[in-house]
Amino acid sequence: MGISSQVMRDLNRIVVVGASLAGLRAVQALRAEGFEGDVTLIGAEAHSPYNRPPLSKSVLNGDDDVSLPGAEQLDDGWLRGRTAVALRLAEQSVVLDDDTVIPYDGLVVATGARPRRLKNHPSGVHTLRTVDDALTLRAALGAGHDRVTVVGGGFIGGEVASTARRLGLAVTLVDPGPYPMSGTLGEQVSRWLAGHHERHGVELVPGTRVVSFDGGDRVTAVRLSDGRTLPATLVVAALGVEPGTDWLEGSGLKLDDGVVCTSSLFAEGTTTVVAAGDVARWPHDLYGGTPVRVEHWSNANEQGAVAARNLLAGPDAARPYAGIPSFATTAHGARIQTAGLPHLADEERVVDGSPADDRFTVAFLKEGVLVGAVAVNAPKELMRLRNGIAARASLDALTT
Ligand SMILES: Cc1cc2nc3c(=O)[nH]c(=O)nc-3n(C[C@H](O)[C@H](O)[C@H](O)COP(=O)(O)OP(=O)(O)OC[C@H]3O[C@@H](n4cnc5c(N)ncnc54)[C@H](O)[C@@H]3O)c2cc1C
Repeated sequence: MGISSQVMRDLNRIVVVGASLAGLRAVQALRAEGFEGDVTLIGAEAHSPYNRPPLSKSVLNGDDDVSLPGAEQLDDGWLRGRTAVALRLAEQSVVLDDDTVIPYDGLVVATGARPRRLKNHPSGVHTLRTVDDALTLRAALGAGHDRVTVVGGGFIGGEVASTARRLGLAVTLVDPGPYPMSGTLGEQVSRWLAGHHERHGVELVPGTRVVSFDGGDRVTAVRLSDGRTLPATLVVAALGVEPGTDWLEGSGLKLDDGVVCTSSLFAEGTTTVVAAGDVARWPHDLYGGTPVRVEHWSNANEQGAVAARNLLAGPDAARPYAGIPSFATTAHGARIQTAGLPHLADEERVVDGSPADDRFTVAFLKEGVLVGAVAVNAPKELMRLRNGIAARASLDALTT
């Protein structure tokens, strides 16, 4: 939805910080809406915007295609390989790593997220966020190690484990939950996922976390919170991410696990700053205003454009963003898709298929209302439940 029915504010210079999915979509939306002023895009990475989902999938398998449609529309004018180090809110400017000060009338914060790290990361311990990380890990996976130890069984850890098995490596997967992704997928899917990993040769070490890595220059072992030590020469630390807000510390923007935004993605208390993508936390109207931060591709893809349009329209004419979070991952050939926010539920029910057949769907309800769904190899059923989530339906209303 464009802002054709909204009035465009008088802004001359818009700065977008973060040149990835959300930042790119913001720039495209500004131009699509007919904004004719200056747009400055600032990106810390040396690359043009690219697609991250293939990094833990096809790229590790040898396919280099990470192209992101639309990136080719950027001319060379954008600031590549440059990091914003501070925001001066009162004077409306962004300071870069070489002290250049860039003034703005409107600012889009799209600085995403970066991997959480333990204090010491000797070589041999990899994280996976950028294309450079993926190429380094790919080389390491092909360097003759017998085993890879994956720390954290979230979607990136699970995808790396799955790819490593396909490449013929032994895999140990350490995860603090009873089953991998139990917080995200609920009890029944995560229990199935644990079995699925094991049936594909992954050695699971559940219910414990890695507290440190042994080895001076090179990792030799991981130390677990339950006192055990596992020998390891190649480790992937998939410990989740933290929002890229370090450069905003002390700026006056409200930060709380992300940039705290209004429902229309304006940074709270401002009229000229919006945030989008992995870095934004906003009250989700579909869930009674529960503040959420969503680390999914489709969220960054949509929010970048919505935030930019709202910036042009101004807070009074801005529209809330209430897209349904949705996400897909693959593990050993199985496709797991989620819609909504299953973790908000007080009840989960298998509504179709069966875990024993590796094809089933789970509905997540809160006080009887659908708030989320997870499907294993069942895309059509997921779509049906997704519609129910959007309609705040009960399960009965959906089946009749
Ligand atoms: C390996 C991997 C696999 C994934 N797979 C899936 C998947 O299958 N499905 C799915 O839905 N999602 C997936 N995701 C998540 C998805 O890629 C993210 O949700 C999406 O990239 C978020 O986009 P973004 O633009 O908000 O942030 P990011 O993509 O994190 O980009 C932020 C950009 O801002 C730059 N930046 C940060 N700070 C500064 C600064 N101070 N100054 C200048 N630039 C800065 C960063 O360098 C980065 O380029 C995956 C992510 C990874 C890493």
